[in-house]
Amino acid sequence: MGINEGPRGVSSRRAFIKQSGLTLMALTWPIDLTKISTDNIMTDKKQLDVIIIGGSYSGLAAAMALGRALRQVLVIDSGLPCNRQTPYSHNFLTQDGQTPKDIATLARQQVQQYNTVKFFNGLATKGRKIKNGFEIETATGESFQSKKLIFATGIKDIMPPIDGFSECWGISVLHCPYCHGFEVKNEPTGVLGNGEKGFEFLSLISNWTRDLTLFTNGKSTLTKDQMAKLASHKINMVEAEVERLVHKSGHLETIIFKDGTTHAIKALYAPRPFEQHCAIPESLGCALNEEGYIITDPIQRTSIPGVFACGDNTTRMRTVANAVAMGTTAGMMVNKEIVLEGF
Ligand SMILES: Cc1cc2nc3c(=O)[nH]c(=O)nc-3n(C[C@H](O)[C@H](O)[C@H](O)COP(=O)(O)OP(=O)(O)OC[C@H]3O[C@@H](n4cnc5c(N)ncnc54)[C@H](O)[C@@H]3O)c2cc1C
Repeated sequence: MGINEGPRGVSSRRAFIKQSGLTLMALTWPIDLTKISTDNIMTDKKQLDVIIIGGSYSGLAAAMALGRALRQVLVIDSGLPCNRQTPYSHNFLTQDGQTPKDIATLARQQVQQYNTVKFFNGLATKGRKIKNGFEIETATGESFQSKKLIFATGIKDIMPPIDGFSECWGISVLHCPYCHGFEVKNEPTGVLGNGEKGFEFLSLISNWTRDLTLFTNGKSTLTKDQMAKLASHKINMVEAEVERLVHKSGHLETIIFKDGTTHAIKALYAPRPFEQHCAIPESLGCALNEEGYIITDPIQRTSIPGVFACGDNTTRMRTVANAVAMGTTAGMMVNKEIVLEGF
């Protein structure tokens, strides 16, 4: 039952949402739509109000706001959220310690109750401006048109050529202490980094453990003052180049260096460079900042009229909570723009 059917529809939806929490564990990732509902699969090519590319936390939050605003919406998602390898997600109220998959599955089930929101499981590959809106093409040859676009496409972390690194990513090789620091507090911990950025990150991590080592993976570029700070906090520094990480199912045990030395370790923080997960915003002309994020204003508008962006692709503040908040803002503001244009 849709939500526009008066009090009965609303109470049914609430009942479903309650129940859906219980059935979460039975669902797989990426979500097999045929097992959840056939009502929300995109079947025709009618003009949509909004296409959201990226159906993870930020895209689903935008979709919920737009579904509740009675908009005809299509969410295109290729099913590769950046945190998919991490066993548990933290620091998001009401979902602390849940698996990333469970949070996303519940979110998608809740969004699917708004029957103006449709889904397409696949990769968007091209986008172009057309009269009165935009056209998006997929890798399998479908094309869809809408008045507005929202990119909630996230970013891709670039893994270094260190054996074992990507297997440990999100499990014991970590990007963020607010997400995972509590779970490895006071453990033997390393920071893989060098220079100003490495030093700054190391200072932050010293909040969670005193058993801390800086691995510069080559000659240190720290200043004398920074070295003195390390010494005063009894933080070791290892300059040897990392060859590989020894781990059990992603749980780090030892770092092996190219000079043959080793270092036992439980957690390694390693901020990574990234690239945009989706190249379409740039191809449409959306401006990126010098770090590589899509530039948006406070209501998630990009530099191209009618194109919005939200979540990790726009900010360093990389958390599920933030992605959801930005998605909600984008959804509300896209709707407002459409309303004002037609009123
Ligand atoms: C290893 C790791 C662990 C993390 N742990 C935590 C944690 O514990 N707590 C926390 O709050 N945050 C955590 N984060 C951060 C959090 O995962 C992100 O902030 C959040 O996932 C961002 O949501 P998003 O919707 O913007 O992007 P994502 O979740 O990355 O989703 C982007 C979606 O867009 C899709 N997509 C991209 N391009 C296309 C395209 N061309 N066509 C169709 N679909 C496309 C992708 O397949 C994906 O589904 C972690 C991040 C990482 C990397």
